[in-house]
Amino acid sequence: MKVISSISRLRREVGLLKRKGMRVGFVPTMGALHEGHLSLIRKARKDNDVVVVSIFVNPTQFGPGEDFSRYPRNFKRDRALCKAEGVDIIFYPSTEEMYPQPYRTFVEVEQLDEYLCGRSRPGHFRGVCSVVAKLFNIVSPDIAYFGQKDIQQAIIIKQMIKDLNFPVKMKIMPIVREKDGLAMSSRNTYLSEEERKEATVLYRSLCLAKDMIRKGERRPGRIIKKMQELIENTSGRIDYIEMVDMDSLSPIKKLKEQDRVIIALAVWFGKARLIDNIIVTVR
Ligand code: AMP
Repeated sequence: MKVISSISRLRREVGLLKRKGMRVGFVPTMGALHEGHLSLIRKARKDNDVVVVSIFVNPTQFGPGEDFSRYPRNFKRDRALCKAEGVDIIFYPSTEEMYPQPYRTFVEVEQLDEYLCGRSRPGHFRGVCSVVAKLFNIVSPDIAYFGQKDIQQAIIIKQMIKDLNFPVKMKIMPIVREKDGLAMSSRNTYLSEEERKEATVLYRSLCLAKDMIRKGERRPGRIIKKMQELIENTSGRIDYIEMVDMDSLSPIKKLKEQDRVIIALAVWFGKARLIDNIIVTVR
């Protein structure tokens, strides 16, 4: 396994492999790897000849006052995990390598960032799209792997790939959860023992919503209210709970048969802002 920090060297190495006809799978991450990341890496390993994983805590996707400086970083551990999964190349650039000054170009996908996390994290998806566009141009993957955990990010990147004609196929993989339902996240390390126990309420509230729909409830307002009540029994502070259309990401007013909707939420526990979602087909 090679660890490469320079863009030109990464291009050279991947170029050589691609000229041999090898198919390149790519998993972009911010490191602090867990089973969620590893599920993407394993799928990439299965589908491709070469697997590239990037580890880069991207400053442009963090707002002022967000957790950029305290985001967990543990390169040694990440490197060992990647090696054990048979990763071929880790791309591990510095901030200066990715954003040499003056840096002035950003990618923005319109409208899809108006709801969910986009509303509470202005500029976040602009940062995400810009870094992912750069990484696509650097790595030239055939297939890139993303998690449903960050569903809005995945849908926005899908749109960007289409709109900007990136020759990249995208695969979205299911959310990997802890035994008690909590979605795996690098940010779970911020939780105290007590908060960790309470944090299962995100998934419990999503299951409650799914159950209400299954039993015939079609009013998003009613469902969201029940989810709120469940979460308000804990120390969690709700950032948002929304039920949105799979394609436009705009809020649903009334559920109809065959609708495919995303129920998504963000809840603060102490210093950790946790997100989770489920996709439900109404029937
Ligand atoms: P991050 O390092 O948080 O930027 O995540 C890198 C990739 O891993 C993104 O595509 C995430 O959606 C995905 N990911 C993070 N957590 C999970 C999870 N619990 N299950 C599946 N994919 C995940």
